[in-house]
Amino acid sequence: MSEANQNIPFNTPANTAQVRTVDVVVIGGGIAGKACALGLAQMGLQTIEVAPDLSSPIPSPAGPHWGQRIYAFSPSTQKLLAHLQIWDALDHSRLQAVRDMRIFGDRGEQTDQLHLSTFEAGTPQLAWIGESNLIEHTLDQAIRFQNKLDQIADTVENLQTDADGVTLYLKNHLPIRALLVVAADGANSPTRMSIGITASEESYSQSAVVANWSCSNPHLETAYQWFLPGGDIVAMLPLPNKQVSMVWSTSPENATTLLNFTQEDWNQKFALIAGGAVTNQLGKLSLNSAPAAFPLRKIRAARFIGPEHNPKVVLIGDAAHVMHPLAGQGLNLGLRDVATLLNILGKRESFRSPNNLVLLRRYERQRQGDTSALLWVTDRLKKLFSGSSNTERQLRNFGLGFVNRSHFIKRRLIERALGDIDFE
Ligand SMILES: Cc1cc2nc3c(=O)[nH]c(=O)nc-3n(C[C@H](O)[C@H](O)[C@H](O)COP(=O)(O)OP(=O)(O)OC[C@H]3O[C@@H](n4cnc5c(N)ncnc54)[C@H](O)[C@@H]3O)c2cc1C
Repeated sequence: MSEANQNIPFNTPANTAQVRTVDVVVIGGGIAGKACALGLAQMGLQTIEVAPDLSSPIPSPAGPHWGQRIYAFSPSTQKLLAHLQIWDALDHSRLQAVRDMRIFGDRGEQTDQLHLSTFEAGTPQLAWIGESNLIEHTLDQAIRFQNKLDQIADTVENLQTDADGVTLYLKNHLPIRALLVVAADGANSPTRMSIGITASEESYSQSAVVANWSCSNPHLETAYQWFLPGGDIVAMLPLPNKQVSMVWSTSPENATTLLNFTQEDWNQKFALIAGGAVTNQLGKLSLNSAPAAFPLRKIRAARFIGPEHNPKVVLIGDAAHVMHPLAGQGLNLGLRDVATLLNILGKRESFRSPNNLVLLRRYERQRQGDTSALLWVTDRLKKLFSGSSNTERQLRNFGLGFVNRSHFIKRRLIERALGDIDFE
């Protein structure tokens, strides 16, 4: 029996035979929402996940060329997926371990370089690169076998909180009562807005152009990133089968131009940028996916639980924070939200219901430091490398070399990139 049925008298007007009552509703069908819903159900909480895109199952990625949405997965993400029994079920031939990261400044000088390696990190890999679909498909498979979890393909149109829980009104289904709602409904989170949580938002006036390439030189399991004069950033992330995934952050105008490039245009571009370093490193690059562009912005919710007077809703993933992709950490941070929430609810005292205020405050407190630090670092780096003054140019390039020589700072940087979560 669910805790909602056991402990909480849902004596609100909405409590008719028509209303379904569960412990938790997760709003959102992205990776953060699916991982959270699965984890909650695995700990015995009766859970419903609601999102419009749950109607179409994610197909298993297949074929020689990798899908368009590629992510860097940090060791903290690996730990969460292992905890959810997902990691070993993934098709590992479609994941590439990253053993080295090389980041280059925009003066073209050899010393303006930051090199992070597994040797310094003391781990077998710094990250893994793989397709979003690979994770989503495997999560879907596990969810199908989880009898404490139902998925509803619909949109949440409205929700009302009261002293006992939340009533959710869906577009095409009957209302649901839940003790707790987890909002994983993305950067524009309608839930965040409807419970009155404000968010600071800043556009970077940049778009990220993503595409996959086959490269004629081995990528040496290395993730490369070049900061270019003018503020563009080009990352080339290694994939299996001599492929790389590009994330090129640039002005929206240039993104439109890049989207219309022919292979010949790309050849000329790669030969020119970063003094030809991209082709020197990776050889001839042949396009093997249709390029796509994503607008880039920074968002931070003012609170991670709400509404303020009576919190019954928790924000996770992009609903709570969005950052520049230069560090490849947005989803990893969102999955650390999931890990923290699962830890707190999993270890709660038996007298505390899942929506107990002490637990929700604990969650908010624990997520603040990690979120603020990552948002700050990515934002500062982005802005430092966009500045056009001579001082800024000297500072950022000197900074890369300086960090590279400082074992202490490097160690902290690696710790931040690896992330840290523990399941007890
Ligand atoms: C170019 C680029 C590269 C990136 N690279 C990386 C990387 O390498 N590593 C990394 O960690 N991160 C990366 N990120 C960040 C990453 O893409 C996001 O952080 C991640 O996708 C957010 O996942 P999410 O589940 O929180 O939200 P989303 O994936 O946005 O999911 C939101 C869900 O909510 C649903 N929804 C919305 N409204 C409603 C409603 N009213 N009712 C019900 N459901 C609703 C939507 O349908 C959707 O299912 C990158 C981002 C960009 C732009």
